[in-house]
Amino acid sequence: MAITFRRSWSSPELEQYRDTVVRFLVEHMQPQDEAARQRGHVGHALWRAAGQLGLLCTDIPEQYGGGGGDFRHEAVLYEEMSRRALSGMNAGVHSIVAHYLLSHGTEAQKNRYLPRMAAGEMVGAIAMTEPGTGSDLQAIRTRAVADAQGYSITGSKSFISNGYLAGLVLVVCKTDPAQGSRGISILLVEAQDCPGFRVGRLLDKVGMKAQDTSELFFDDVRVGRDAVLGGQEGCGFSQLMTDLPYERLIIGVLALAAMEGAYEETLRYVRERQAFGQAVMEFQNTRFKLAEIATEIQVGRAFIDRCVEDLVAGRLDTATASMAKLWGSETQGRVIDTCLQLFGGYGYMNEYLIARMYADSRVQRIYGGTSEIMKEVIARAL
Ligand SMILES: Cc1cc2nc3c(=O)[nH]c(=O)nc-3n(C[C@H](O)[C@H](O)[C@H](O)COP(=O)(O)OP(=O)(O)OC[C@H]3O[C@@H](n4cnc5c(N)ncnc54)[C@H](O)[C@@H]3O)c2cc1C
Repeated sequence: MAITFRRSWSSPELEQYRDTVVRFLVEHMQPQDEAARQRGHVGHALWRAAGQLGLLCTDIPEQYGGGGGDFRHEAVLYEEMSRRALSGMNAGVHSIVAHYLLSHGTEAQKNRYLPRMAAGEMVGAIAMTEPGTGSDLQAIRTRAVADAQGYSITGSKSFISNGYLAGLVLVVCKTDPAQGSRGISILLVEAQDCPGFRVGRLLDKVGMKAQDTSELFFDDVRVGRDAVLGGQEGCGFSQLMTDLPYERLIIGVLALAAMEGAYEETLRYVRERQAFGQAVMEFQNTRFKLAEIATEIQVGRAFIDRCVEDLVAGRLDTATASMAKLWGSETQGRVIDTCLQLFGGYGYMNEYLIARMYADSRVQRIYGGTSEIMKEVIARAL
């Protein structure tokens, strides 16, 4: 019997939902992917189409326009995009932004933004990283200075996913530089018709070519007092810390699905490709490599699935989620590199899915906290 990778958390309802997701990806996203890769972004229409189908903010309550589901619904979308190397729509970051609003926003903030985000009318981005600092978040220099009317934001951000298409940017700022982590706040900036706000270059990346990643500039951007997430200054750092398990598990889920996609693609290829009068699959090296990969995926599935279940039950801790991100992204890199090798020269050609997967996988070890930072977080919990 052929090996299949079952998810412990799935259900008939979720598999039906998966069919809807796959149809959307195959009929709408895949045909536009090459154009999006050339352009560097997928455009607003695709986000709106996803929103209309109910594929965005699936784990946000219905009262705010969301799907009323849970993280498993989100995972289905991430998995199906990742196994096809469709990286253009960063629904993970969009969802993370929605969760900041849901967990920490005022009622007015939730009502104002969540329904539009679920509809795909407003794309979400979160801007922490700056040209001068990434891992060391407390070293950010973007300032929000308060006055009688509200705040003036000045600074620059870099590597911001969804930055080019974003309608709402959660900007991590210093509101009181003397207070260390307690002087950090998250300010909500509406990007459209916003004087002083400028989107810089669409950054030219090694992979994830269809995904918009941008520089953002803030030059005396004026926002009201009510633009502080949750309405209270100085809470930004602790707000960022509470949602870490959610963010890191998204990367773990993406990693495992990419491995599954790469494994299946490679299996197909080596069964067809001939060398020395036989299919490449017949070489013991090929069969052993794929046997090792299938084993790693099965073992990984047990761990990632448990993390998904724990997150849904509200008991996934940051150290365990960091393990999912660390193990997932590191293993993804190794597995996809092994798969590419089995394609020979074709594996290096961008028109082959495996080549795109290889390029896309590299950043998984960097964004959302680097592997080194994951080890620090895990080590602190030993
Ligand atoms: C495609 C892409 C999308 C991104 N999307 C976003 C986004 O949407 N929003 C956002 O805010 N940011 C985003 N980022 C930024 C990303 O989160 C940072 O690049 C990452 O956190 C690392 O920060 P840095 O690049 O400044 O590296 P640095 O912090 O300068 O790190 C350089 C090296 O030093 C190591 N290092 C740093 N500190 C330690 C330590 N304490 N111990 C050991 N080693 C250490 C790092 O692991 C790394 O190897 C994105 C990045 C990319 C590439």
